[in-house]
Amino acid sequence: MVSEEFVLDASAFYTGIPFLSCTKYYTTSLVFNEIKHINKSYSVVELLKDIGDLKVIEPEKQILENVNTIAKKTGDSAKLSSADISIIALALQLKKILISDDYAILNIARLLNIPVKTLTTKGITNVRKWITYCYTCGKAFDPNIRECLLCGNRLRRRYKKIVR
Ligand SMILES: [Zn+2]
Repeated sequence: MVSEEFVLDASAFYTGIPFLSCTKYYTTSLVFNEIKHINKSYSVVELLKDIGDLKVIEPEKQILENVNTIAKKTGDSAKLSSADISIIALALQLKKILISDDYAILNIARLLNIPVKTLTTKGITNVRKWITYCYTCGKAFDPNIRECLLCGNRLRRRYKKIVR
């Protein structure tokens, strides 16, 4: 059996990851604190931490800032907690596969070329970006703008596929 290493976000813990021997898991303290209250699997998580198969590591500040910058650009930052940002940064830093079921996390991970694994079958296949646009004029605007600069209508938001 080949040894594998994964970075786990909170959704991975909630869904219940298949803990395997020969597998090493990584997470950040923010995520670890967030999942502490899940009674059903917490004893397993604690055991894994005790025997060293689950390591809690803090991402570097510079990498955290890079992830924050990307999240702001794609419009995902409002949907991401600091724990979410920390786990993306850790996966980027360790260059390990990130396990997550969170759409916004997966979106950023793909943009940063972080290999990802989802626990459900509904993983995202394309990187998308939120765009703010006017329904009447069809013109796209900066995400911070609320009303169309041409006609004054309220702007709408939708995901748009990014062609890379
Ligand atoms: Zn307009």
